[in-house]
Amino acid sequence: MKHRIILHCDVNNFFASVECALNPSLKDLPLAVTGEKSKRNGIVLAKNNLAKMCGVQTGDVIFKAKQKCPDLVCVRPHHDMYEKYSKKIRKIYEEYTDRVEPFGIDECWLDVTDTVKFFGTPLDIANTLRKRIKEEIGVTISVGISFSKIFAKLGSDMKKPDAVTLIPYSTFKKQTYHLPLNSVIGIGKRLEVKLNKMNIYTLGDLAGYDEKIIKKKFGVVGENLQKKLQGIGDDEIASAFDYRQVKSIGNGTTTIVDVKNMEEMKSVVMFLCDEIASRLRKKNLVGSTIHISLRTSELTWASKSHTIETLTNTAKDLFDESIKMIEKMWDKYTLIRSVRISVSNLQDETAINQLNFFDKKNNKKQLNKAIDKIREKYGYKSIQPLITKNEEFINSNALRLDDRD
Ligand SMILES: [Mg+2]
Repeated sequence: MKHRIILHCDVNNFFASVECALNPSLKDLPLAVTGEKSKRNGIVLAKNNLAKMCGVQTGDVIFKAKQKCPDLVCVRPHHDMYEKYSKKIRKIYEEYTDRVEPFGIDECWLDVTDTVKFFGTPLDIANTLRKRIKEEIGVTISVGISFSKIFAKLGSDMKKPDAVTLIPYSTFKKQTYHLPLNSVIGIGKRLEVKLNKMNIYTLGDLAGYDEKIIKKKFGVVGENLQKKLQGIGDDEIASAFDYRQVKSIGNGTTTIVDVKNMEEMKSVVMFLCDEIASRLRKKNLVGSTIHISLRTSELTWASKSHTIETLTNTAKDLFDESIKMIEKMWDKYTLIRSVRISVSNLQDETAINQLNFFDKKNNKKQLNKAIDKIREKYGYKSIQPLITKNEEFINSNALRLDDRD
């Protein structure tokens, strides 16, 4: 059987590395990229190796990080630059295969099964990428090479920075089966706890467990995960030159003060939904699956997805559904620090039966059109839903768009 050849490339300390590439005088200092001190996101977002060696961790509040590392240099994030670097790096990957799948801003899977013959061996490609990105971009990457996405990603974690790890089919069990469950993606904390209760602690434990029991307890998700760990099957990596379907459109924000009641939550949610809806319309897309993540002040996440019956790109529809979901997932005692909403299951607006989609909602469509036109002419902020005028949250930069995809 012919195995695929998958590379997983991960930029080391991405945010901090870009900051050093932009300002080389920071290179030999312990560095942290942090949110604004006066605001609630005054935490360490990323750090370099020197800061890591002092014990600085992502998520530390600034003063705590400085206690651990008095010489720590803190810089504000430059998201536009991270975006730029990410694109430049992806361009280099795309010279070696058209099958490049990004995962987050600084990681990509590359399927080089069909193109490796043009560039030597898989190891040659990995080393070339490593060298080129160091020389041309000024940051380092770790590369994992394997026969599936899950093991390629595991490989890129094994040795870093600036390193290559090979996990071939012939030895993957020996190399990985002793590792703890959390060394692969797809096993979150809650699943890990459940598996531990069944005496499953390592990747090998899970791979070798009675398949029927795994399927019964964890459904298709558990079954697929177990298969992947056994080295069977994996997800395809789509061609970059296939029609580039946007998978989801989303938006997140961190508030200055914790959100503590539904009134406040509503203004945050409307702010996000309004922006998402506007972007959907710009791309002529409609969507039906809403995904919400809430982060509490203790930095833990709760998330939920729900598919609605209609396809929409109207802020009010997204808002109504989001609020219904949040009613179910938030106890309203826990303080919320950040909210993220995204919409997927996207389809081309024009591909939908115009009659049944717009008939009832014709007035909504007219309204959306008018809003979009005003914004085109006078800027995005020229017209805003009234509910987002909740001063405490929406004032100037109080609500900042953290990340968009
Ligand atoms: Mg990384």
